[in-house]
Amino acid sequence: MIKLFRFLKPYIIPIFVVVVLIFFQSISELYLPTLMADIVNIGIINNDINYIIKTGGRMLLVTIGGVICAVLSGYLSAQVSIGFGKILRSKLFNHITNFSLSEFDKFGTPSLVTRNTNDITQIQTVTFIILRMMFMAPITCTGGIIMAISKDKELAWVIVVVIPILVTVIMIIALRAFPLFRSIQVKIDKINLILRERLTGIRVIRAFNREENEKKRFENANLDLTNTTIMVNRLMAFAMPSIMLIMSLTSVSIIWFGSIRIEHGSTNIGNMMAFLQYAMQIMFALLMATLMFIMIPRAQASAERINEVFAVNSKILDPVVKKKTGIKKGYIEFRNVTFRYLGAEEAAIKDITFSASPGEVTAIIGSTGSGKSTLINLIPRFYDVESGNIEVDGVDIRDIGLNDLRSKVGFVPQKALLFTGTISENIKFGKNNATEEQVHHAADIAQVSEFILSMKEGYKSMISQGGTNLSGGQKQRISIARALVCKPEIYIFDDCFSALDFKTDAKLRLCLKKEISESTVIIVSQRVATIMDADRIIILDEGKIVGIGKHKDLYENNKVYQEIVFSQLSKEEVK
Ligand code: ADP
Ligand code: MG
Repeated sequence: MIKLFRFLKPYIIPIFVVVVLIFFQSISELYLPTLMADIVNIGIINNDINYIIKTGGRMLLVTIGGVICAVLSGYLSAQVSIGFGKILRSKLFNHITNFSLSEFDKFGTPSLVTRNTNDITQIQTVTFIILRMMFMAPITCTGGIIMAISKDKELAWVIVVVIPILVTVIMIIALRAFPLFRSIQVKIDKINLILRERLTGIRVIRAFNREENEKKRFENANLDLTNTTIMVNRLMAFAMPSIMLIMSLTSVSIIWFGSIRIEHGSTNIGNMMAFLQYAMQIMFALLMATLMFIMIPRAQASAERINEVFAVNSKILDPVVKKKTGIKKGYIEFRNVTFRYLGAEEAAIKDITFSASPGEVTAIIGSTGSGKSTLINLIPRFYDVESGNIEVDGVDIRDIGLNDLRSKVGFVPQKALLFTGTISENIKFGKNNATEEQVHHAADIAQVSEFILSMKEGYKSMISQGGTNLSGGQKQRISIARALVCKPEIYIFDDCFSALDFKTDAKLRLCLKKEISESTVIIVSQRVATIMDADRIIILDEGKIVGIGKHKDLYENNKVYQEIVFSQLSKEEVK
């Protein structure tokens, strides 16, 4: 948690002001009982109305001053802690934005979301409490002790006896409560996990009639959380009365022993009343301190989760010296490329060597899990290679600026992802300044304009979150249009034609061919029909290239390719 406080730097001055205000607030609170004692001891005993009014007026002024300080320091503390939360959120978000896919894999996206929201809110709340109490408690406590002793040294033994008792009781309760609070946090995480799975997987759960099981799973987790929370609340229900009891017993003892001392003439009523109030102030300060110590470990867990994210730095960064790519445009060269996912035993792709040039279509075919998506994810540097190297336009991609590299590539991912917004905004995603004409043209080629125009508001139609109001094929074609608008040097289509029917697929590819004949095209597909006329077909099997060449050669010489072809096409279609 301390580590995170480095982000509080811009708030040094407000924090200083808060401390000063709290100091004055405490002083005013400590001063009041003394004034009251004076009224009783001097004013009432001498029946001096003037003195009573004068001192009463002073009490009023001191109280008003204290209240103003309290309000101002509360306001400033809220400002500081909320500002702190804002800074943390934006720093963490910026940090995460620079992550490569490896780092996303490491934490998991949902966990990153909770860390950026829930955990930071937790820190924010605790910062507020710390600001309010960390200075207040010690000032009031020591000030109270000094003032109490100055009022009546002999009675001070009551405080000496009571403080250890109070501290012990609070400690016993706190020690039992700590682990419970921690486990509540863990259980909330668990509920989040189950809820997330249940809600995102609702279709599958319904389709497989697993609703009862899932309900039970949720109810168990829910019950678990409920029980722990009840336990904490029971503890708290016991804590408050016992602390109150200790406080009341203290008051009784002070009045009891105080009155005996008054009888003997060793002290007077005013001093005893002031002493009573100081004792209360001391005990409240102790309570505040404990409350703070209960809150801090809860925030500590959150702080650790946030620090974990800050501690990880993306390994995929802009090169120190950005090399300019030559005049060559759209050349891709893989040299003995091997890549392994974080923690995976086997390399996902091994020793891949091939090259692709502008005007050529390179197709990659292979069974699921053979490493097709992995291979093309390496081109825009979503991941970095383990060994070997990839060159684009004659320069190692690790020496090209990330923005330069990625603007060369038009990427259509396997899972089409659209953003909330209009269709037109989604197509313009890669090129904000695209004209409406360019958008329409791209949609035409992607074979989606007919569908878009059939919608009520055409290109202005809204796409709901995640594109749930569209079919898989419609989403795919919009994401193809999105890549087309950018007019990149290199097009990468990851299995995005498989969601289309054969006719649309063929028509789309025909239009594409005309449109992007100058660019380098890499098509991943499972369908032979889609890739038959490619200039180069790469067959992947378990991450290795087991054949590379044109359809005709492969069909005649390559066993794996023959198997794939026969499983999909009849003899006549192949020719
Ligand atoms: P394809 O696209 O050919 O179906 P992939 O490239 O997606 O295959 O996957 C190749 C292999 O890499 C698979 O064995 C898969 O389990 C593994 N893999 C894919 N993505 C990840 C990931 N993010 N983390 C770890 N392993 C992965
Ligand atoms: Mg894939």
